[in-house]
Amino acid sequence: MTAKETAMSKGTISILGLGAMGSAIVDRLRESGYDTVVWNRTAAKAEPHVKAGSEHAATVAEAARAGDIVIAVLLDHASVREHLEPVATELKGKVVVNLTTTTPNESRATAAWAAEHGLSYLDGAIMATPPMIGRPGSSLLYSGDENAFAIAKLALETLGTADFEGADAGLASLKDMALLSAMYQMFTGFLQAAAMMRTVGVAAGRTAEDVIAWLSELIPHVGHFAAVIDGEDDDPALRQDVAFTRPAIASLITAAREQGVSSDFLEPLKKHLDELAATGRGDANWISVIDQFPINE
Ligand code: NDP
Repeated sequence: MTAKETAMSKGTISILGLGAMGSAIVDRLRESGYDTVVWNRTAAKAEPHVKAGSEHAATVAEAARAGDIVIAVLLDHASVREHLEPVATELKGKVVVNLTTTTPNESRATAAWAAEHGLSYLDGAIMATPPMIGRPGSSLLYSGDENAFAIAKLALETLGTADFEGADAGLASLKDMALLSAMYQMFTGFLQAAAMMRTVGVAAGRTAEDVIAWLSELIPHVGHFAAVIDGEDDDPALRQDVAFTRPAIASLITAAREQGVSSDFLEPLKKHLDELAATGRGDANWISVIDQFPINE
């Protein structure tokens, strides 16, 4: 924080929700020179913020009236709707930013509700942990009302990079969920490796070093997979077909079981490869399993 940043208020932002993330956001906005008004279901959590210079709103309506921008950082979609719906009148003319994690359709439903009430609504997704807020590496995604984004952008950029994904309010959430899906599958892969190696006394820390080294080399391959999926390129040097990959995955499953370790997280890939082989696609690139992902066809 610089003296210049605190010298003059840049406007008033109300924050609904003072959990770990809401608190980090208020701290950052306050140190960036914004007047902040805070509301939390459990009022005691407002105390440290009031001591640090925020104002406390006793009700959501009071917070909504006070802010030029109103940011919700609550638990889930239900808690957002529970607290925003009764204050639609007070939110009129404000920019409403929902940073609570919701699914794309939940985001779209809240955007539709906001549109019905003539509200400026921006849906956001936070690609950061609370300590990362306002620091390099913190990234936030937004979608919905582009004009609302333009108005709030300066304030939102104090939290991390602010990228507008498009007018469909579900887009920020969709990207968030897609990236988190990739993340959890990657971490689950590490857990599988650690579970296998600890059967012979290798500490998870040692396996972590090996996994980090191995995956760091391989992660650029997603670019090759993407080129195949997008129909742009299928470099034969990097290609592995179903007939090759299917027994390889079967061996991983057998090896896990031999060590007395569950193969539950590996089985779905084997199932999809079996389906490709059974439908005459043994010579297809193994990443053709992506063709089996759609469930509404
Ligand atoms: P916390 O569990 O720390 O805080 C939850 C907040 O939601 C509290 O302010 C809590 O109020 C409030 N809350 C819960 N239920 C209700 C309800 N029914 N009505 C009103 N308020 C309610 O969570 P975080 O602050 O970490 O997360 C907040 C949002 O940010 C979540 O959607 C989360 O997915 C998202 N997020 C969090 C990240 C993280 O690393 N923490 C990363 C990215 C996104 P009370 O104090 O009264 O219980």
